[in-house]
Amino acid sequence: MATYIPPTHTENPYLPFGDQRGSPFYGRDILSVKQFDRKDLEYIFGVAHEMREMVQRVGTFDLLKGKILASLFYEPSTRTSSSFTSAMERLGGSVIPINEVRYSSVSKGESLPDTVRTLECYADIIVLRHPEVGASALAAQFARKPIINAGDGIGEHPTQALLDLFTIVEELGEVDGLVVTMLGDLKYGRTVHSLARLLSLYNVRLNYVSPAILRMPEDIFSELDEKSIQQAESDKLDGVLVETDVLYVTRVQRERFADQAEYESVKDAYVIGADTMSQAKERMIVMHPLPRVGEISMEVDDDPRAAYFRQMEYGLYVRMALLAMVLGKA
Ligand code: ASP
Repeated sequence: MATYIPPTHTENPYLPFGDQRGSPFYGRDILSVKQFDRKDLEYIFGVAHEMREMVQRVGTFDLLKGKILASLFYEPSTRTSSSFTSAMERLGGSVIPINEVRYSSVSKGESLPDTVRTLECYADIIVLRHPEVGASALAAQFARKPIINAGDGIGEHPTQALLDLFTIVEELGEVDGLVVTMLGDLKYGRTVHSLARLLSLYNVRLNYVSPAILRMPEDIFSELDEKSIQQAESDKLDGVLVETDVLYVTRVQRERFADQAEYESVKDAYVIGADTMSQAKERMIVMHPLPRVGEISMEVDDDPRAAYFRQMEYGLYVRMALLAMVLGKA
């Protein structure tokens, strides 16, 4: 039997002609932050910044008129799915939303490759969230159209990491020299897996604060160690809070625990409150990919350093930039 060799998307004969092909991301999948270098990030953030200005000035414009995005979510989502929808619609495109796979042929037992091969008949790009690590990479092997990984289980969440970094750049002006403290569920948190990797392109120091059973996975720790990134682990925030420029808080993810008693034992490990903020730097930001379930108390919301709501908005601009670039219009 002949071995199936998937076409690379850049060589893809099916991609539409007449588009600008100058974008370094034209026709490419976005699967992992490992595919980016600093130059790529500058480019993405430059476009995202322009998107921000355009949205503030005119709201919606026709850059992707006629383009269709298929939004395929096998796991719950509020921000990622709605910000991709908003991004596509603000750029004049439209969306096929499959946010409830139970009502699609997935419930009849259709495989991921077949579902993806179906949707690409109707759409120009597919945004995929799936509970299994590597699902987006698998989908990309079978798809002719670009796939954007919107979270693959406990693996990666590259577009979240891009918006996280964009938030840091927009809020603090630079990344080099910062101390970033990641707090909470570092084992199952795909956002911190992607963000730590992305930050390793910069001259940063990383603190990982978590209960012992939720430590940053060893492979990510070693990957960053090889790049000479300074990393320190602790189960307490106290020692590192005063030096922290970015406090990145995560939710302890109930749905990832096989043993619910284990979840109960760590779910309330940390709560950021006004007292925490009183000990933090004046020029620092608190971030969270959201949803929060108690790890940041509402009394922090009015503190100007609380960046987690602004972070969501930055996500819109980054996703607009990515869609425009992958579809060859930026
Ligand atoms: N929304 C983020 C994610 O999808 C974080 C979370 O769910 O806690 O990974």
